[in-house]
Amino acid sequence: MAETREKLLEIKNLKKHFRIDRKHTLRAVDGISFDIYRGETFGLVGESGCGKSTAGRTILRLYDASDGEVKFHGENVHARKSKKELKSFTRSMQMIFQDPYASLNPRMTVKDIIAEGIDIHGLAKNKKERTERVNSLLKTVGLNTEHGNRYPHEFSGGQRQRIGIARALAVDPDFIVADEPISALDVSIQAQVVNLLKRLQKDHGLTYLFIAHDLSMVKHISDRVGVMYLGNMAEIATSKELYENPMHPYTQALLSAIPLADPEVERTRERIIVEGDVPSPISPPSGCRFRTRCPFATDICAKVVPEFQEYKKEHWVACHLYDERYADQMKQ
Ligand code: SF4
Repeated sequence: MAETREKLLEIKNLKKHFRIDRKHTLRAVDGISFDIYRGETFGLVGESGCGKSTAGRTILRLYDASDGEVKFHGENVHARKSKKELKSFTRSMQMIFQDPYASLNPRMTVKDIIAEGIDIHGLAKNKKERTERVNSLLKTVGLNTEHGNRYPHEFSGGQRQRIGIARALAVDPDFIVADEPISALDVSIQAQVVNLLKRLQKDHGLTYLFIAHDLSMVKHISDRVGVMYLGNMAEIATSKELYENPMHPYTQALLSAIPLADPEVERTRERIIVEGDVPSPISPPSGCRFRTRCPFATDICAKVVPEFQEYKKEHWVACHLYDERYADQMKQ
């Protein structure tokens, strides 16, 4: 990770609520705060429905925020912007989708799909330059010039994801939200796409928000990882620290669900099992949102929302187990 630690994004108390009807609101993202440093990969993990994809989309302003703030290069992303400002902003922040097939227009050739951003932002002076740029992007992501004349359905899942990556890169962005970019791919292909993303990060100085539902998927690519549960952030730490010393019971449960290579360690290790489904974000539990599934929950967990605090350097957790103010109540 870049040692300079320049904050590229500052996310403060970000909320995204969806009104279902007059009485019900879905609190998909409900007050998350974190920074993303230039040049790093921040992994965002949680079960489906925890709000991680909505968070990614709201950070990019694909959704308007219900509350809170996202600053990119110190500038408020959700502030009113002129058309010109909006255009330069969308150029700097791009997205790679989970299902590249659904996000690629089946009636367009691959070269036109990749060139869309180049055309919108006027990045090529003429047709020749446009073609050269597309060909160079195809090469960068491991495809060849001839692939540019074909249509998305002619490619495998891994190749389609490469096309999606080339399209995102075409406008020379600083920041990319990769929303479960490898979840739909075969395991053998996943490592190839992760390696490609890592190489591109190095060569182009990119910063990633890498979203996944499984901690094992973000382990090798992330510098830091945030674990979301039901619209809230449960824990943030460096990747190494999170895997070696998970503090939040939910993170501990997610990690103990990952099988270990050593059969002896696998057989004897202690597991934290969480039971039941994630409650509805329309009516989340009071206090700590994880309390209905947490093996350590006590009465205080239903009454008081745990504060997201830095208990160790760069290790943030929202859990009463570590808060001295509630030590007596947690012994129950
Ligand atoms: Fe479990 Fe209570 Fe900690 Fe929530 S605050 S994770 S319910 S121990």
